[in-house]
Amino acid sequence: MHKLTSPRTIEDILKRHGFKMSKKFGQNFLTDENIVLKIVNAAGVTEDDVVLEIGPGIGAMTAKLCERAKHVLAVEIDKMLIPILDETLAEYENCTVINEDILKLDINAEIIKHTEKKIKVVANLPYYITTPIIMGLLEKDIPIESITVMIQKEVAERIAATPGGKEYGALTVACGYYTKPQLSFIVPASVFIPKPKVDSAVIHMEVRDDRLMDKNDKDRFFAVVKAGFANRRKTLLNTLSNNLHYEKPDVKKALLQAGIEESRRAETLSFEDFKRIAEAFGKL
Ligand code: SAM
Repeated sequence: MHKLTSPRTIEDILKRHGFKMSKKFGQNFLTDENIVLKIVNAAGVTEDDVVLEIGPGIGAMTAKLCERAKHVLAVEIDKMLIPILDETLAEYENCTVINEDILKLDINAEIIKHTEKKIKVVANLPYYITTPIIMGLLEKDIPIESITVMIQKEVAERIAATPGGKEYGALTVACGYYTKPQLSFIVPASVFIPKPKVDSAVIHMEVRDDRLMDKNDKDRFFAVVKAGFANRRKTLLNTLSNNLHYEKPDVKKALLQAGIEESRRAETLSFEDFKRIAEAFGKL
């Protein structure tokens, strides 16, 4: 079998199967073997791992994952790609292709068939639903050890941002609540067909074991983050009293208790700062 990243091979396979790439499903296939290897390496996949791949496309990365992992669950929404994957992955017995929408699939039910351990998620994500996929994986109770995904560079920079900059926002804090994000490397638009409009980046997120807060604190934490960034140019005192169900004196009291000046803005607060504010509201 020729390399599944070779533009010639991709063209040939697609032609033989009468397959047309779909914008609707965010289909941009990788044409650089080296990048595929770098993603698999960044994920640190070993022979004990069960890997969930979202959107295998024609299977270029799936094949590499099958060579490294114990088992690969590859979830592909486009039914037209299934006969192609049957062909390109025929030699791998440790691969299950599931023709489903990742946002609708009961992922836990699939994982349990293959392992009792935490899984690793590896993907070149469809860009039109990057955030719902990542947040969906984190919010549902899925046993995940790490998530290594290629996404738009701009979103990767937002996820890995530090307080104070313009990229720092609700998405940064939400991902930081569940994981320790690290931007692994940048990928130019030129290594995909078709070529997307923006550059990409690979982000590696180790999922935290220490889910710090109980359910009520967690809900409060996310409410504070949402309210804080609802008007990011306003002071915390104003944006929190406008967007939470608390009167101004109560917001003042909670901020004081958390040791946060009321004139600060959400974009300057660390994860720990948000946590202290949420806990202070809990004690009012
Ligand atoms: N992994 C391939 C590669 O790197 O060349 C393809 C990546 S392409 C950016 C995204 C893939 O996700 C496509 O194969 C697309 O059909 C699939 N996809 C899009 N939406 C999906 C969804 N909701 N659930 C599962 N797969 C989806």
